[in-house]
Amino acid sequence: MPGFHDILGHEAVKQHFQKAIEAHKISHAYILAGEAGMGRKSLANAFAMTLLCEKGKSEPCMECHACRQVLSGNHPDLIHVTHEKSTIGVDDIREQINDTIMIRPYSSYYKIYIVDEAEKMTVQAQNALLKTIEEPPGYAVIILLTTNPEAFLPTILSRCIQLKLRPLRDSVVQEYLAGSLQVPEKEARLYAAFARGNLGKAIRLAGSSEFRHLYDEMVYMLKSVKTMELSELLDRIKRWKDEELDIGECLDFMQVWYRDALMFKVTKDPDLLIFRDEFIALDKLSKTTGYDGFEKILEAIDKARVRLEANVNMELAMELMLLVMKEN
Ligand SMILES: [Zn+2]
Repeated sequence: MPGFHDILGHEAVKQHFQKAIEAHKISHAYILAGEAGMGRKSLANAFAMTLLCEKGKSEPCMECHACRQVLSGNHPDLIHVTHEKSTIGVDDIREQINDTIMIRPYSSYYKIYIVDEAEKMTVQAQNALLKTIEEPPGYAVIILLTTNPEAFLPTILSRCIQLKLRPLRDSVVQEYLAGSLQVPEKEARLYAAFARGNLGKAIRLAGSSEFRHLYDEMVYMLKSVKTMELSELLDRIKRWKDEELDIGECLDFMQVWYRDALMFKVTKDPDLLIFRDEFIALDKLSKTTGYDGFEKILEAIDKARVRLEANVNMELAMELMLLVMKEN
């Protein structure tokens, strides 16, 4: 479990927490929002550990009794709210927060509650939590982790400090993969491009054999878009669905591919390519497709994504997109 300085990126969020600690102005309720894998839990834990640390600095010392208790998951004043069902119900909030929050902290100045997947709180659960957030005891700190702050009642939102995690720069993710995880540089670049600033996702991709399969499938298909019959292309896509490939990730892949070719058309610099191994194919594509063609294709991929999210028949959404790819 890392302290603040071990967490890559997210400078604004770290600074917010550390300044609040230095100024002794801790809010009673926070919302940490961001995609899964971006580091919400690490940031919340670093904040909690720092607040509980006996040294009282803006980084946890990692050595005192309190820090060691947090590290071993046994600090009595740090409560991770859990839930058994697919939603967080009113009883979960009552039993784990409301009924215990008036009991003073055992060993430190703060008593901290971390609610993961807080967007799963039912309206009743949120209303129960609201009562506590409206009049919390001075020592209480509640941290809600979420992928979707829009799921919260306006009354909850208005009482919490909202902090949103931003994607990291690709270069930061790439350096981490290559440096700390010894991923070969060429692959690190690819994973970083796909993770779109989400370090957790990049690490997951780097350790996944499924990604390799996705890569082979997609590159083969993208190289053959113009020569393969439409029906054959659609058959391949249907097979991806049967193989449970994530169609959203397939679209991400296509987007990175066409952006790569467009980038090469503009810069003529092969070092900037994400798919450096596919230089010959991308070079050809950059010569046969015009700027407006790339624009149309990238738009068509976006449209396919929107259509799939709106539950339009997948085959139709893909067919419309493939036609634009074939024509441009
Ligand atoms: Zn400490």
